[in-house]
Amino acid sequence: MVQRILEPAEIESIDHIAIARVRLPERAEVFSARAQRLRQLAPGNPIGPYLLLMATVADAQHAVAQSLDIPPLSPETLDRAGEHCMPLLPAQDAGAPLAAAALFDRLAATAPELAAPLATLRAMPADALAGAIQALLGLRPSSDIPIDTTTAPLLMAALQLDRTVLASQLREQDMPMLDVHTVCPVCGTPPVASIVRIGGRYQGLRYLHCGLCATEWHMVRVKCSHCETTEGISYYAVEGQGEALKAECCDQCHHYRKIAYMEKDPMVEPLADDLGSLALDVMMGEAGYGRANGNPLLWLADDGDDDDHGLETAEVRG
Ligand SMILES: [Zn+2]
Ligand SMILES: [Zn+2]
Repeated sequence: MVQRILEPAEIESIDHIAIARVRLPERAEVFSARAQRLRQLAPGNPIGPYLLLMATVADAQHAVAQSLDIPPLSPETLDRAGEHCMPLLPAQDAGAPLAAAALFDRLAATAPELAAPLATLRAMPADALAGAIQALLGLRPSSDIPIDTTTAPLLMAALQLDRTVLASQLREQDMPMLDVHTVCPVCGTPPVASIVRIGGRYQGLRYLHCGLCATEWHMVRVKCSHCETTEGISYYAVEGQGEALKAECCDQCHHYRKIAYMEKDPMVEPLADDLGSLALDVMMGEAGYGRANGNPLLWLADDGDDDDHGLETAEVRG
C-alpha cells in the first residue's frame, strides 16, 4: 500500500495551512453514496437483506434531504461554541421532528417491509419521539425510555437526516477547535469509523466520520480514535476480504474502530462499510477488543452481555 507518511514536526508545520481540518457533508451526495455502497456490499453478506433494507432507508433520506428546510445555526451559537471549544450543537438538542415526519412519510410509500415500525413511530407525538432519540443517544437512561430495536434505526435515520442537512449548511471556518478530538465538532458524537481519502487536499489523509451528521474531521494516522494514544496501534483485516477495510486496534484502551482506504476501493463509505463487515467485529471480539461505539443503523437486543460488540447504548456514549 502506498501511504503518505508525515513526520510529527512536518504535520505540526502544515496542519494549519494545507490540511483540511474538516470535510463537511454535501446533502446531494451523502445518502445516495451510502445507498449505493450498501447495495454493493449486500450480495453474499451474512446480513445482506438488512443492508438492502438500509439502502432503501438511505434512498428516502436522500430524497427528503434535497428539499428539507432546516434553519441554519445562528451566529450566536457558532460564536459560543468557538469560545468554549465545544461542538456546535448542544448535546440535549436531540429533536428532529421535521426530518422524522418527512422521512417516515416517504418510507411509508417506498418501504412496505417497514410498515410496522413506521406505524409505531408515526403514532408517536413529537415529544415522545424526541425522548426516544435522547434515550438512543444515551442522554436519558434506558430504564426511563426502553430502547425498541425495531424503531431505533429509523429514529437514528431521522436524526442523521436532520443533522446532515444542518451540517451541509455550515462553512469550514464555522468549525470550533475542540479540546477533545474524538467527537464530532458539529454534533459531539463519537465517530462511527474512519476513512483515508484520495483526491485534492484530502489525499492520503485520515478523517473520522460522524455517524449522525456525516461531518469528517482530520486525525493523524496510526492513532487511537478512542483514547488518542499513538502507542500500541495495530491493524487487522478478515482474510480474503481485501485490504479496503481494517480494524484499527489499540492496546492501551483495548478498543477498535474500522478504517476504510479509498486507495484500495474508491467506493468505500465509512458507515456502510462498518455495517457490512460484522465478520470483522466477530474477529475483533474474539481477539479481546471492544467496539468503541455502535453503528446508528444497527441495534441488537441487549442480552445482558456487556461484550456484545459494544453495540449497546451505554457503549455508544463510551
Ligand atoms: Zn456529527
Ligand atoms: Zn485507545
